[in-house]
Amino acid sequence: MAAVTVINPNVLNLPPYRLPQDYLTLPENYHPKPRRFVGLLACQMDPTLRSLDSIITRMEKKTAEMATTKGKPKKADKKAQAAASEAEEWEIEFEDTGPPSAYSTGSDIDTLFDSVIFPEGGGQPYDTGVLSLQTKKGTDWDSVKVDSAFRRKLDAVHLVRFPTGSDPAAHGWVVGAEVHMEVDWARRKYHMQQHTGQHLLSAVFEHELKNETLGWQLSTSGQPSYVDMERAPSEEEIAYVVQRCNDIIQNGTRVRVNVRLESDHERPGTLPEDYRDGVIRYITIDNLDVNPCCGTHHPSLAFLGSLFIFPGVTAMSGPPRSRINFVVGDALTKSLATAHALVKDVGLQLECGPPDINERLGQLLKGKKDATRREKVLRAESCAAYAIQLAASLKEINGVHVGKIHREEESTDVEFLTSILHSFTPPSDGKWLAALSSGPISASGTLGGCLLLTGSDDALVKKAGELVKVNFEGRIKGGGGKGKWQGKVIGSWHKGDDALVDQILSEAAGRHSCPTSL
Ligand SMILES: [Zn+2]
Repeated sequence: MAAVTVINPNVLNLPPYRLPQDYLTLPENYHPKPRRFVGLLACQMDPTLRSLDSIITRMEKKTAEMATTKGKPKKADKKAQAAASEAEEWEIEFEDTGPPSAYSTGSDIDTLFDSVIFPEGGGQPYDTGVLSLQTKKGTDWDSVKVDSAFRRKLDAVHLVRFPTGSDPAAHGWVVGAEVHMEVDWARRKYHMQQHTGQHLLSAVFEHELKNETLGWQLSTSGQPSYVDMERAPSEEEIAYVVQRCNDIIQNGTRVRVNVRLESDHERPGTLPEDYRDGVIRYITIDNLDVNPCCGTHHPSLAFLGSLFIFPGVTAMSGPPRSRINFVVGDALTKSLATAHALVKDVGLQLECGPPDINERLGQLLKGKKDATRREKVLRAESCAAYAIQLAASLKEINGVHVGKIHREEESTDVEFLTSILHSFTPPSDGKWLAALSSGPISASGTLGGCLLLTGSDDALVKKAGELVKVNFEGRIKGGGGKGKWQGKVIGSWHKGDDALVDQILSEAAGRHSCPTSL
């Protein structure tokens, strides 16, 4: 392994970052390239840096061909693109890709070719930010938002939008323009806290509990981020890791970045295939872990504040792995506030304070269970009563016993009507036909209802069903077979429908008059 030395900012002509001198180390034999590149961008050298002055070295309207290369916009960006159809996407870079003199306006200009906007990597999403023209302050064209950024080989590419058909060059947006860039710090800070937190919790699981991390995802949706483990940790292990991580955080444990020349070392499997002739960055958590990663990590874990792993493990398939959810730092405070608001809201609905919610909920669930049991008993009694009522309504017409009942209930519960039949004893002599209906009576409205026809033989029931279709003029739609016909009321039962059912039963039984009663 090559000898390492503490970086001397003067050797690299680095801006005067306020960073611990021993945060970053480079190989002793390192000779800086004549330009910045991904791996040693300002945002990677000093993750606390929020703004930077730089100079545009490449500016090009994005073409369809460029969109198919590495770094094409992700799903969310496509949505944004659709919303901003009146804008065209441009790529802007700040690395000095040509001879220094090509853009130089001063002797020390080389130090300005750099970026404070991280172009995604190591599981950390890209930064967003704002670019401002130093010479156009106060004009409509003085600044532009950086929607996203990505890595193309060694270069960091920034994506911005200008109005379709416009000429940004006419407004000062040209190669060589001096630009002040600001990173969206709230977004970056969130990314860094979750990312650095993931390094920590994965390290504790791996080194102290022999449970390796297989993958992870930093959430950008407001939900917790997750880590996939090779085996499911127990409740005790999760509790241990949470405590251990917070102890390490509270100790202000240092994080350091050791940079190696890529050619000097075996390439880590996680290094992208198109990243060549760059550097390998080893992220070290003092006395705990060393891991190659290109993301931005704060020099002290104290920056994380606190870390929490949510109870519960989700078994994931193909390949099998165990997922745990976690949240770190400011997002943990927000998560706690959201959880508290939810508990408070539940307490208000249950009319009790948060400490009594569990007991109150237990009482409600027991009450619900008791009510369900009582409803079952009452339902059975009610069905039996309706069955007696149905039997009492039977009248003989042309040798057929016909009868009906109606429930004024706002329901389409055919099941209840069917239950009545279970308690109903049909006449033992001759044919019979019965109509069971339910629904509130209303001349207008959509309160609904249902009708169930049944009888001693299928032909009789079928005939009655056909008569329902004709007499109700499409207000009841249904069908059936095997001695049953059921239909749904479109709209509501009307006042005269009771007589209409009587008429249908009579006609089905063979009487061709129009009686008002049986
Ligand atoms: Zn990392």
